[in-house]
Amino acid sequence: MDDFETIKQLDETYLAHTYGRYPVAFEGGEGATLYGVDGREYVDFGAGIAVNLFGVNDPEWKAAVKGQLDKIQHVSNYYYSEPTVRLAELLCKKTGAKRVFFGNSGAEANECAFKTARKYSFMKYGAGRSDIVSLNGSFHGRTLFTLTATGQDEFHKYFDPFAGGVKYADPNLASVKKAAEKACAVVIECVQGEGGVKALSAEFVRALAAFCRERDILLICDEVQCGMGRTGKFCAYENYGVVPDIVTLAKGLAGGLPIGACLFFAGTENVLQPGDHGSTFGGNPVACAGGISVVSRITDEFLLEVQGKSAYMRAKLKGFDGVEEVTGMGLMIGIHIKKPAKEVAKKCLERGLLVLTAHDVVRLLPPLNITKNEMDDGLSVLKEVLK
Ligand SMILES: *Cc1c(COP(=O)(O)O)cnc(C)c1O
Repeated sequence: MDDFETIKQLDETYLAHTYGRYPVAFEGGEGATLYGVDGREYVDFGAGIAVNLFGVNDPEWKAAVKGQLDKIQHVSNYYYSEPTVRLAELLCKKTGAKRVFFGNSGAEANECAFKTARKYSFMKYGAGRSDIVSLNGSFHGRTLFTLTATGQDEFHKYFDPFAGGVKYADPNLASVKKAAEKACAVVIECVQGEGGVKALSAEFVRALAAFCRERDILLICDEVQCGMGRTGKFCAYENYGVVPDIVTLAKGLAGGLPIGACLFFAGTENVLQPGDHGSTFGGNPVACAGGISVVSRITDEFLLEVQGKSAYMRAKLKGFDGVEEVTGMGLMIGIHIKKPAKEVAKKCLERGLLVLTAHDVVRLLPPLNITKNEMDDGLSVLKEVLK
């Protein structure tokens, strides 16, 4: 095993410099506890950005993935594959969706959603109704089109010209209405992640859903970060009592393997036809086996535990010196503070705790099966660092 300095040197030499990294490398772990190559243990309040939903080394998930590896690792989409259809069935039964398209990432899931919305509108109304309305402060991915659909100017440097056909709005109905004149879809994150862990108001989301229904504009919920049980419901939109037309999932869906899913609800499930869309790795059986293991364990009972953990962590955090506000929903937690969030994250790391940031907010996205001891250990570090 290489030591940390060797790994860091190789990273600096051979990898594109796209990431600002914290000075640690991990080689293993157990649940929400990670082992660094430095021999230290870290409590993980980030889950690889909401990916390792059941933490690290989860026996059930590993057995599912290894079992599939022993059978076949990839099947072309020219043929059928059981784990793929079983995961799609599970997702439809859990959400009420009618069909699923699988890709490899959140961005790819969103691309599929946007293409579907444009075709839906074109088939029904013809050309000229192709805009996607996106909210300011949103994040939808790094491909050129999902970057365009990301409503944050700082991501838009350098990469002109953008694809066009995206209009931005503030999270209020008047602003959306103005932007939606030629829209085929509005895309929202019920809880904005990268934008600063902000839950949209129930009043806005309900009014938006009614407006979209009335105008036959598709409501796309980007649940890449806030879905998969994160908010205490399987999908975050369930907290709002709305039914979207298209939902995208990724990050935690396969528990740590690359996957993305675009879920089509009634009315959009037959828009894409043979030849319209595809993805070589989409529906990969190993990733889908991981997904089946994860999705089948997000039961109502498990979601109650997530809600309990959320209440526990939020109550503690609100009492800490230096905390101005605690936002988000479920185990998607934003801690608003006066100190620079990056500094807090660095100090937490020095003390053996991993936290994320989103702009000036400290962001927590722990594995959903985090234990009370792990929560307490991490919270005591945060308490020390925030005061
Ligand atoms: C992370 C994220 C994406 C992009 O997912 P990738 O897998 O990195 O392409 C899209 N939308 C939201 C809300 C995200 O948090």
